[in-house]
Amino acid sequence: KMARTFFVGGNWKMNGSLESTKSLTQTLTQAKLDSNVEVVVAPPALHLLTVQEQLKGSSVSVSAQNAFHKASGAFTGEVSVSMLKDASIPWVILGHSERRTLFHESDANVAEKTAAALAENLSVILCIGETLEQREANETVNVVVRQLNAVADQVKDWSKIVVAYEPVWAIGTGKVATSEQAQEVHAAIRKWASEKLGKDTADKLRIIYGGSVAGKNCKELAQQPDIDGFLVGGASLKPEFVDIVNANA
Ligand code: PEP
Repeated sequence: KMARTFFVGGNWKMNGSLESTKSLTQTLTQAKLDSNVEVVVAPPALHLLTVQEQLKGSSVSVSAQNAFHKASGAFTGEVSVSMLKDASIPWVILGHSERRTLFHESDANVAEKTAAALAENLSVILCIGETLEQREANETVNVVVRQLNAVADQVKDWSKIVVAYEPVWAIGTGKVATSEQAQEVHAAIRKWASEKLGKDTADKLRIIYGGSVAGKNCKELAQQPDIDGFLVGGASLKPEFVDIVNANA
C-alpha cells in the first residue's frame, strides 16, 4: 500500500452552475490538501475547460465523466477521447454505474472506450460494481471479475488505470459499504489482477472505493490495506470533500 499514491476523485455528475462551480474550485484551491494524495475532480463536460483554468497552478486535476471511443464524426451529443486529449484533459471516468444502467453501456462498450482513452494517453478511472440483487445472490466477485475481464480482453497495459469499486447499492444512497465489505472485494480485485495481469501490475494498481463516502466514514475505509482512495459523488460538491482528501492526515 505504501507504494501506491492515495487517489481521491470527485464526481460532480450533472450538477452545478458556472457560479457554484467557481466557488467549489475556490474552496479547493484555498484548502490545505494532503500533498501525498492525487486529487482529481470531474465536472460536467461543459464546465471542464473552465474548471481546468480555475484549478491551474493547484495540485488538483480534472477528469471527464465519460467519453466516446471514436475520434470524430456523426455522433451527435458525444465528446471523444481525442477531444479530451486535444484539450489536455488528463483523466476520464468510464463505466460509471449510471452510464451502464441509464445509458445502457455494456461491459464491451466500456472496454472499447477504455482502450480508446488509453490509446490517446489519457488516464482512466474505470468503475465497476455489483447491484444489491447480485450481492444478495453472492455474485459480487463474479460480476466485478466479468467487468474487469472485458477490459483485460482489450487492454494489456493497466498502468494508467485506476479501478473504482462502486457497489451500485451504495451509490447516492447514504448506505456505505462497511470497511470489511469493501476490503473483501478490493482484495478479490487485486487477486484477479495478480493472476490475470501479473503481481507487479497488481501491486501497483490503485483500487479506490466509491459509494456514499463521507467525512465521517472515510478514515476507517482508508485504513484498509487494499483501499487506495475514493471516488466521491455527493460529498464532492461540499467542503467536506477536503476532509475526504485528507482522510489519512
Ligand atoms: C459516484 O457516483 O461515483 C458515487 C460514489 O456517488 P456517492 O458518493 O454520492 O454515493
